Amino acid sequence: MAASILQLLFPSVCLACGCKCATKWFCPPCWLLCELPDPANHCQVCFQGLEEQARYCASCREGKKRLPMVRGFVFDPESPARLMGLDAVDALAGFAYLQWIQLEWPDPDVVIPMPDSAPIAAALASLMQAPLVKALSPSYEYYEDRLEEENTLLLFDVSHSSSSLHKAASALSASFPKKIFVLSLFPYADSVF
Ligand SMILES: [Zn+2]
Ligand SMILES: [Zn+2]
Repeated sequence: MAASILQLLFPSVCLACGCKCATKWFCPPCWLLCELPDPANHCQVCFQGLEEQARYCASCREGKKRLPMVRGFVFDPESPARLMGLDAVDALAGFAYLQWIQLEWPDPDVVIPMPDSAPIAAALASLMQAPLVKALSPSYEYYEDRLEEENTLLLFDVSHSSSSLHKAASALSASFPKKIFVLSLFPYADSVF
């Protein structure tokens, strides 16, 4: 009863289409647009969308990797999920966790946030039951000795430009040539990857 009175007084509005709805953030049709991209239709290295049945995109097949590590995205470029705002920490971490399960990547020994991606990365690390290690400086350099050489790393990233992600990826891969995975919440408008 109280909930329905509240609903009358403060009806929710879908952030994407503006219609009144009883669901949080989006109306049901707009929630469907937030569906996570299927890793089976994407390059297994750089996550570029693929038209035909294949494991890798043409660039990765030719060995022209965009990043020195495997990468995946949580949302499609056109997903309304961007409108939720980055303070929806637990919800966004939940989506990231589901996408990580779909990707079937190995369990990370540590989750590393990009410098301003720590709140969602921390919530994701707790879902994964993996420690969060702030191994990158604000200028994307690696803080020596924060990681073990044999670690499998998951670098989590929210909204960086592709050049800062490239810097961080290169710094980590110089020290840790193997087993680094990058999970990015959103593809970027300026993405060259
Ligand atoms: Zn809507
Ligand atoms: Zn690729």
